[in-house]
Amino acid sequence: MSFVKFNLHPSLLANTTAQGYETPTPIQSQAIPVVIEGRDLLGIAKTGSGKTASFVLPILNQLLARPLGEKSRQPKVLVLVPTRELAVQVTEVFKDLSINLPKSIKSMAVYGGVSINPQMKSIYGIDILIATPGRLLDLQRSSAVDLSKVKSLVLDEADKMLNLGFKEEMQEIIELLPKKRQNMLFSATLSEQLSGINRLLLSDPTVIEIKEKVDDVELINLSGYFVSDGRKGPLLRHLIREQNMQQVLVFTSSGIKADKVAAKLTKNGIPALPIHGKKSQSARLSALEKFKAGKLQVLVATDLISRGIDISELPYVINYELPRSPKDFVHRVGRTGRASSEGLAITFVTREETHHFKVILKKMKRYIDMVDSEEMDFKP
Ligand code: ADP
Ligand code: MG
Repeated sequence: MSFVKFNLHPSLLANTTAQGYETPTPIQSQAIPVVIEGRDLLGIAKTGSGKTASFVLPILNQLLARPLGEKSRQPKVLVLVPTRELAVQVTEVFKDLSINLPKSIKSMAVYGGVSINPQMKSIYGIDILIATPGRLLDLQRSSAVDLSKVKSLVLDEADKMLNLGFKEEMQEIIELLPKKRQNMLFSATLSEQLSGINRLLLSDPTVIEIKEKVDDVELINLSGYFVSDGRKGPLLRHLIREQNMQQVLVFTSSGIKADKVAAKLTKNGIPALPIHGKKSQSARLSALEKFKAGKLQVLVATDLISRGIDISELPYVINYELPRSPKDFVHRVGRTGRASSEGLAITFVTREETHHFKVILKKMKRYIDMVDSEEMDFKP
């Protein structure tokens, strides 16, 4: 089966091929026709399963079919995402797939942490806006953007977007949108039971839930080590060296910890950089770019980066500290084993966390044989 069956515009199909997409992923197969029809959609599929193109392709196709109208500050498509890095990444997918189309379709990312003026200027003439909620509202308040002509709304990582943390901003944004519009919600961890704001958002939606096949789940190999807090650093260095890991994403539970772990690794001859919310935007983007390009051995991150970020064939994820919520665990380990490549996710667990880890694994329907690091021989 190929992308031909969707009746996409030929130039869009050519771009799809140029991206190396040969066969649509299951979520793409099911979502693309629904979005083309203009229906509301709730799309649930695991991390790394190609959810982005499942809305980008039909949205571009719709825009190609419609007259684009005069240049304005009124985007027709609004995509909301939880982080700046994800805004940049989703925008790249839109741009890659809009090369050389018969009409020029313009997409742009707006997010906080960088100066607002260039964004205010550049919004003029943009068709597709990919935004984090806070900056979008700032831009709206200063009349740089008018959301009253948005025809399609996408929430990527929808459960996160509808979470308490974004609630007020989301409500405010939704009130600025026209009542009649197409809504699309995507996530790997979204439940079909809609409540509250989700209900208001979707009208008679098509629900697509791609259940994981057993082999899919196994693309991410999970392993775990019992280790005391004091021995986590030495164990981390031991594993990186012993398994000759060249590209490792390490998760900690705070920015301060991420800084410490990265500094310690670097001091021990393993190049590492931290990435978290307290870092400047330029430091965040450059660390992520270096890491994606394979020019940085270890990236030490907080859950900030656990959502949506696509690192091609990332082989290793290490949970230096356990996340509080099982959802975050799913998103963290889902940075590896993407687009049918294999990955290994290693988790450090202190004795006190044994029960919490069991709860997480139970939610994931996985089982791990734990290794006791006390019995391992490595330098402290
Ligand atoms: P998700 O949002 O579901 O976590 P992404 O949209 O980020 O996943 O896609 C994960 C990776 O799969 C990306 O690198 C993307 O380029 C790749 N990809 C998407 N669709 C296809 C396809 N049909 N064939 C091959 N690779 C694909
Ligand atoms: Mg995604």
